[in-house]
Amino acid sequence: MMGDSRPLVGRHALVTGGGRGIGAAIARQLLVLGAAVTITGRDQKRLDEAAAAMGCQGLAVDVTDPAAIQTGFARASAQLGPIAILVNNAGIAKAAPFARTDLALWDDILRTDLTGAFLCTQAALPDMLKAGWGRVVNVASTAGLTGMAYCAAYCAAKHGLVGMTRALAVELAAKPVTVNAVCPGYTETDIVEETIANIVAKTGRTRDEALAGLVASNPQKRLIKPEEVAEAVAWLCLPGSGSITGQSIAVAGGELM
Ligand code: NDP
Repeated sequence: MMGDSRPLVGRHALVTGGGRGIGAAIARQLLVLGAAVTITGRDQKRLDEAAAAMGCQGLAVDVTDPAAIQTGFARASAQLGPIAILVNNAGIAKAAPFARTDLALWDDILRTDLTGAFLCTQAALPDMLKAGWGRVVNVASTAGLTGMAYCAAYCAAKHGLVGMTRALAVELAAKPVTVNAVCPGYTETDIVEETIANIVAKTGRTRDEALAGLVASNPQKRLIKPEEVAEAVAWLCLPGSGSITGQSIAVAGGELM
């Protein structure tokens, strides 16, 4: 990046789930670096507001709907050019003891957090291979690298995403397309607010006690900021990061080493 403060000028980046939380921070960071950005999600109104505030394009694309992905990605490319950077960030997190993890919850999480990334990558990859340059960054989780109680479905999906990252990185190693994952620890977004509310409702703990329980696993004893995850994603997208592929980088204050 040295000497060029906008190294992604001319690149079109698509960020799934880019209307809020970690995805919005990633979209903002890629815009700063000069990329043209499309953010997607399910809620068109929220996307329109976020896109207008950021100065990018917002398109409703449900990552659990293969046809919507095909149509949406084609529309995104028609507007802003071939997709050069794909950030698979859209995701949901629901906790439940294993015995109460029913098939609906399991399917819901796997379909969104894992199959969604698979389908979006298949839709974007031809553009990258044709252009001879590309970056795929998957937003996994520390739950993709280690086991966590009451999170069997989420851990399975995120471990799967890390596995797909590694396999595709090797498969594409001879091409100028890198595939990496970032693995945030608990990060200040709606997902964590919902997790805290869930703990408070189920255990009777106070909000502060629930929060202290979540950050206990992070040696820095704090939540990660969405902007910190965005910095790592943006770095992986830089032209100079071409030799980094197949990595799953924890952004977690030392939670995992
Ligand atoms: P938020 O709940 O704030 O945002 C989730 C995003 O995903 C929203 O933009 C939402 O858009 C989108 N999304 C959810 N389901 C779908 C779907 N079916 N199709 C399209 N978009 C969808 O969560 P975070 O920002 O915290 O999470 C972003 C990613 O980071 C997720 O993959 C999550 O697993 C991961 N992560 C989060 C951590 C945390 O502690 N916050 C820790 C580790 C990983 P909309 O509502 O418009 O559909």
